[in-house]
Amino acid sequence: MADLGYFSQKIGDTIDRVLCETFEKREFKMPQGRYVSFCFDDFPKSAVELAAPMLESRGWRGTWYVAGGLLGQTDPNYGKMFEDSDLERLRRAGHDFGCHTFDHVDCRDSSPELIEAQCIKNTEFLAARGINDVSSFAYPFGAVNLSAKRVLAHAELALRGVKPGLNRGTIDLNMLKACGLQENNGGVRRAMDDLEALKRNSGWQIIFTHDIGPSPSPWGTTQSDYSQLLQAVEASDIEVVTVGEMVQRLKQSAAMPSQAEAA
Ligand SMILES: [Zn+2]
Repeated sequence: MADLGYFSQKIGDTIDRVLCETFEKREFKMPQGRYVSFCFDDFPKSAVELAAPMLESRGWRGTWYVAGGLLGQTDPNYGKMFEDSDLERLRRAGHDFGCHTFDHVDCRDSSPELIEAQCIKNTEFLAARGINDVSSFAYPFGAVNLSAKRVLAHAELALRGVKPGLNRGTIDLNMLKACGLQENNGGVRRAMDDLEALKRNSGWQIIFTHDIGPSPSPWGTTQSDYSQLLQAVEASDIEVVTVGEMVQRLKQSAAMPSQAEAA
């Protein structure tokens, strides 16, 4: 019976994935160029203390997906989570912020009303801390079905999943691909492989992780691996943008008449 449960879960996952990849799309054409965004989900204090300075010293900024309910908590996997002072420090340094629901809820198991209420609560949490320009959302656990995608699409935020790969050509702003640096996803090695592919062709690589440190959780990475990744980007002609910046550019280029129309 356990096997049957496992297989029906797998079939359910596949159906959700196919439906989400097919419907409720918000398509944008990627501009020419090579872009990388660095994201942090949840987020642990170690990411602010160790990774933010690594980005800032290169003149780069990251996108931080905040679930307000995790403020000041200690997570069994990630250790200490962000505090108000961390949000303030990042905000002052010009980083970008995204929504991740308030209580880090699984959107696939949540009613449309709950998802909506969670986003409103998180928006209020961020606004109370001077953060009013949120333009993207990351599905907690990467969990999404068509109903959740539909509800979130109304908010007009760029929606980020956890399916690895490069965003290139015509992309779905309601289901952006992103490469997690976690162990079960090939870690930094996979991100480096995608980076090599990006060097050869236009596209947008979104990289996310959680904690950073000498003994990271399975969903985090070490400082040396992260540093290696940043060095590889630095040595290339790839432009580092926050998700918010890229979303703005996509909307601007969609609003402009094409060259043929302008001629
Ligand atoms: Zn998360």
